[in-house]
Amino acid sequence: MKIYMLISMLSIMVAWNLQESTLKDVKESRFEVAVLPVGSTEPHGLHLPYGMDFYQAKAVSEMACEKAAEMGAKVVMLPAIPYGSNRNSLGFPMTISLDQSTLNMVVRDIVESLEHHGVKKLVILNGHGGNDFTPLMRDLYGRTRVFIVTVDWWRTVDDVRSMIIDEPGEHADEFETSIGLALFPHLVRMEEAEEGAVNTPKVKSLSYAWARFTRPWHVLTRNSGFGNPLKSSREKGEKILEAAVERIARLLKELSDAEMAEGFPY
Ligand SMILES: [Zn+2]
Repeated sequence: MKIYMLISMLSIMVAWNLQESTLKDVKESRFEVAVLPVGSTEPHGLHLPYGMDFYQAKAVSEMACEKAAEMGAKVVMLPAIPYGSNRNSLGFPMTISLDQSTLNMVVRDIVESLEHHGVKKLVILNGHGGNDFTPLMRDLYGRTRVFIVTVDWWRTVDDVRSMIIDEPGEHADEFETSIGLALFPHLVRMEEAEEGAVNTPKVKSLSYAWARFTRPWHVLTRNSGFGNPLKSSREKGEKILEAAVERIARLLKELSDAEMAEGFPY
């Protein structure tokens, strides 16, 4: 009982979750790094929820921030953005899309608030492949003192992915379904899971990765799935999350410890 009380007191003292913090908590803290999870609202096959990208970005951020805070990082997690850029999925019912330019304006305003409060670094933790903050980071370079990093969280485990996941995929696949099983099994309907059917473009050269174009997702796929979710498991999801959280937490700790000076981060 006493140990439990001590642990809960310690966890209260480390205010890394802004939404759960009070003014007193925040006044007693100093934040070097903010983390902004960004998701999307769109279908993920017949078996995963529309909030998949939001839930996973939020959960990975929570786990990474908690771990980084335990390591001594001065980190704060901001409320997660539930929408993303996915006009090419509007062919499916109830996809809700924000233009990338709208998302960028939201992030710009958040950066301005962070700068006002003296938070020097921001990590955008992205959970949706259609979101791209690269041009925004370049546009803001020299216009803000906040150093911005974007992490597509699933890319942090690119090198170990094939050791854990059997089949490649892009959407509502073995990877994503395993994450869902690990994080929110009550929202995963494995009995509805089916192998994603994917069409190839009539213009043959568009199959090359170097020819980039926007894929109409309702024509590319049948029920929005791209990949085979049937070999998914909670264990696979947990292994991926463990590796990703470890790496992101280390990034947060290193950013927190780093002194901002001319030419940062070099
Ligand atoms: Zn997704």
